[in-house]
Amino acid sequence: MFFEKPKNGARSGARSGHSNGFSGGFPGGWPAATSRSGVLWLTVAAAVLAAAGCGGPTADGGKLARKAAVGGRPRILVTTTVVADLVRQVAGDRVEVDCLMPPGIDPHSYKATPRDAERLLEADLVVASGLHLEGRLAALLARLADRVAVLSVADRLPANRILEAAGGIPDPHVWFDAGLWSLLPAEVARALAAIDPAGAETYAARAETYAARLREADAEARERLATIPPDRRVLVTAHDAFRYFGRAYGIEVVGVQGTSTASEAGLGDINRLVELVVSRRIPAVFVETSVADRNVAALIEGARARGHQVSIGGRLYSDSLGPTESDGGTLEAALAANVETIVTALAAGEAAP
Ligand code: ZN
Repeated sequence: MFFEKPKNGARSGARSGHSNGFSGGFPGGWPAATSRSGVLWLTVAAAVLAAAGCGGPTADGGKLARKAAVGGRPRILVTTTVVADLVRQVAGDRVEVDCLMPPGIDPHSYKATPRDAERLLEADLVVASGLHLEGRLAALLARLADRVAVLSVADRLPANRILEAAGGIPDPHVWFDAGLWSLLPAEVARALAAIDPAGAETYAARAETYAARLREADAEARERLATIPPDRRVLVTAHDAFRYFGRAYGIEVVGVQGTSTASEAGLGDINRLVELVVSRRIPAVFVETSVADRNVAALIEGARARGHQVSIGGRLYSDSLGPTESDGGTLEAALAANVETIVTALAAGEAAP
């Protein structure tokens, strides 16, 4: 029997939960320093064993021991490519990072396989994006929550920086606000130090360096996007993955499909957007690497029928980074690529009369 009921009342698919940073219950009595680490230590025993350096397999209950066997390095299983990049930047070569979702996959609709459940159980730490980005996977994470430590990074962000999507649920697309994302390397460093205390200083130092780079990327993006004439700073995309980006960099953002790709765009939504694109003479709309293009195609066709030519300004990285060797292989690279795509498409258009 693979699955067990979560202990501690861990929620599965609960809608709120970003306010306190934990998506499940927290066992009381754990030292305060660790309770601030952001790791959902539902497996207190695992933490104790890992801290004591017990690396090898144990008999019964071995799942709770440090499971790493790969060259002695801790095994970190992450959900999305964005989170994989975050963990790799902080951890360097000290850990094995294994990513559930390959590049180009839509995390909202990703459905875990039985093999994924095994991989989750084999990990020393699972790092998820959180705020219910992993819509269908979140239920599995909750079911396994008493057997593996889970850090949901976005859940660690200050609640007052989190945007609300339709229906009052938190908007999970936090990563393209590089300033906001720069708060997270330190959280990852603390979680890694909890399973690999010998690496604590390395993780902390790398996290600091990486956070500084993200703050630089934040400043660069702001500077570049400010070159777009103010009346054309409108980003129309397939789904609402850029609201944090828009808030950070002064771009009005309109998604065809809402915050999750789980709901289909209705005809009313498309017509509303056609009206917006035509009346504001928006020169370009954008497609995403991880979302189907049919809604954007319908929007372009609708605008054309009204006599307004709108082009596809390019393909943006949204919920997935590109393959490692691509121009969007890291968050910094994907952000820079998106910014250039947007600047080129929106700044080059003819000025509205
Ligand atoms: Zn999304």
